Amino acid sequence: MNYISTRDSSIKVSAASAIAKGISTEGGLFVPESIPALTSEDFSVLCKMDYPARASFILGKFLGDFTAEEVDHCTNGAYKGTFDNEKPAPLYNLYGDVDILELWHGPTCAFKDLALQILPFLLTTSASKVSGGKKTVILVATSGDTGKAALEGFKDVDGTEIMVFYPSEGVSPMQKLQMDTQEGKNVSVYAIKGNFDDAQSGVKRIFTDPEMGEKLKENNMLFSSANSINWGRLAPQIVYYVSAYCDLLNGGKNPENGFNVTVPTGNFGNILAAYYAKLMGVPVAKLICASNANKVLTDFLETGVYDRNRSFFTTISPSMDILISSNLERMLFEISNRDDKKTSQWQKALKDEGKYQVDADVKAKLDDLFYGGFCDDEKTKETIKAVYDKYGYLCDTHTAVAIAVYEEYKAKTGDERPAVIASTASPYKFAASVLDALGEKPSNDEFETVEQLSKLTKTTPPAPINALRGKEVRFNNICEPENMADAVLEYLNIK
Ligand SMILES: *Cc1c(COP(=O)(O)O)cnc(C)c1O
Repeated sequence: MNYISTRDSSIKVSAASAIAKGISTEGGLFVPESIPALTSEDFSVLCKMDYPARASFILGKFLGDFTAEEVDHCTNGAYKGTFDNEKPAPLYNLYGDVDILELWHGPTCAFKDLALQILPFLLTTSASKVSGGKKTVILVATSGDTGKAALEGFKDVDGTEIMVFYPSEGVSPMQKLQMDTQEGKNVSVYAIKGNFDDAQSGVKRIFTDPEMGEKLKENNMLFSSANSINWGRLAPQIVYYVSAYCDLLNGGKNPENGFNVTVPTGNFGNILAAYYAKLMGVPVAKLICASNANKVLTDFLETGVYDRNRSFFTTISPSMDILISSNLERMLFEISNRDDKKTSQWQKALKDEGKYQVDADVKAKLDDLFYGGFCDDEKTKETIKAVYDKYGYLCDTHTAVAIAVYEEYKAKTGDERPAVIASTASPYKFAASVLDALGEKPSNDEFETVEQLSKLTKTTPPAPINALRGKEVRFNNICEPENMADAVLEYLNIK
């Protein structure tokens, strides 16, 4: 199984190389040469397995140059004893045929843990095959959750250094605290004066800057990415959609006509994984793409025009405050029948003019696959309250966006097929907004707010949140987006 680039499909590299590099030299994203198909026998076998074994089964198909032992080493290291639930990605029945896929039982309480607990294993295994003893320097742009999850995953991992850049005004107090107090001898954290897109563009610029690449090489280092542009981030996300299907079957549900999947979407990584699961044979029906007020994807799915020239909103679902959804590139590559020329043109237009329009045939395929909807902060809060009052279920702001858009989809279309809604963060990660939604005034102190939420809802805050109390702040670096490269050189102590 080799990997090709979305912008030049003549570029072909091994899985280890795709993961070690993170992004193709000309700026394209790596995708598998072909998508492995799962048979009904495969599903019967998968249904009997626990999560780490399911992950080995699925990931083994994508990791052509890994041995079975290496794959098991990665999945066991990532998923055994690291999540607060026996199942890392359990289903919670909200009502009837609607299940919540809870993806926040990991060490940083957001769905990024499912991928970032395993990425360090995948990356160090890959590097040992292809990087000839070079140190791997991970650069991360984060809208809040990736940063912390990557720091936790990579802290004190031999042969790696990790640097995280987050928008100074764009993360929740808890997210900021989680990152600024990070432990580990190979970690560094920066607040960027700008938004997530500025941080992401800055990181991409450094990755593709030949001069920076050369400097690292001279010092026996190389860059890699822990963002979902790295295939090593994406592949583990496919696993939980396969696993959710197995759990539906094990729970006696057989969605004969498929099941709908709703995903609160930002960078388009999570929903893309659901699409790949569908291509592998999981009977996913509609992919429901839920956005907040930054509804560039809703508009794109409606009109076929992707246009980032618009106001940027800071919302109560900050991990979705994104106007450039990087992984859409992989999606467009796939549904244009892997047309690397067109994919490059669209991405170039996005870079140069901030917009592009897809062809009619691509638009027709999008219509068939997707429904796009959005939900503003007011509606997000209403949804948190309604879901709590009606079902006794406490959800975070991102999950609420997904639930609201799903209900809107169902009301509009009458599509009553079974549904899985991805829940991407613990409500305690956004305690102030959640408490406010329930009609109580949050305290100015983040931990008192956590206490209030716990008392009001008689739920227990996750242990990693409690553990932040009184922890020493280690980082308070602030950086202009254009100075990110200098920050990297300075941290690495190279000229
Ligand atoms: C990252 C994140 C999202 C968006 O996921 P993408 O894969 O970037 O689309 C949604 N919710 C939460 C809580 C997140 O951390």
